[in-house]
Amino acid sequence: MTLQRSLVLIKPDGVQRGLSGEIIKRIEQTGLKIIAIKMVWVDKNFAKNHYFDVGARHGEKVLKSLVDYLTEGPVIAICFEGVDTIAVIRKIAGSTYPNEALPGTIRGDFAHISKNYANTNDRKVGNLIHASANEEDAQKELKLWFSIDEMHSYKRSDENHLI
Ligand code: UDP
Ligand code: MG
Repeated sequence: MTLQRSLVLIKPDGVQRGLSGEIIKRIEQTGLKIIAIKMVWVDKNFAKNHYFDVGARHGEKVLKSLVDYLTEGPVIAICFEGVDTIAVIRKIAGSTYPNEALPGTIRGDFAHISKNYANTNDRKVGNLIHASANEEDAQKELKLWFSIDEMHSYKRSDENHLI
């Protein structure tokens, strides 16, 4: 059985709005296991390394506001492990643009800004959470955010039911 890992960041707005517990709860209650967790306040260089492809995908202006966003306060970085982890967490997080994210998702329930509003008002799309998009990104991101000795192996007591 191959388990999959994903990086989640509770972004500065999630931390500052006191939503960290709520966000972790929603993911953890599915059975996905936390195998690493820490609070970090990263610098702009680190944020650019994390969002290495955003300039190419969304343009340099979005990248700049995103780097400012990620560095405006501490974030909580978490590695989750389980079955189909990347897709399960993306489903719980919801669409990138909160106005399009479905109710029941983190972004749909706790934010509402649109891409159009953000870009015409020079604002970030504050959407509370980062979640790795695919296996290749997850591996790169986890290497950037965690050292091997920060990742832990242990058994959850409900694993018999879950995997
Ligand atoms: N973002 C933004 N303006 C945009 C598009 C994206 O501020 O027009 C931000 C938003 O916070 C998003 C992040 O850039 O979460 C990374 O974009 P990506 O396309 O990777 O979305 P995600 O994977 O976070 O859903
Ligand atoms: Mg992404």
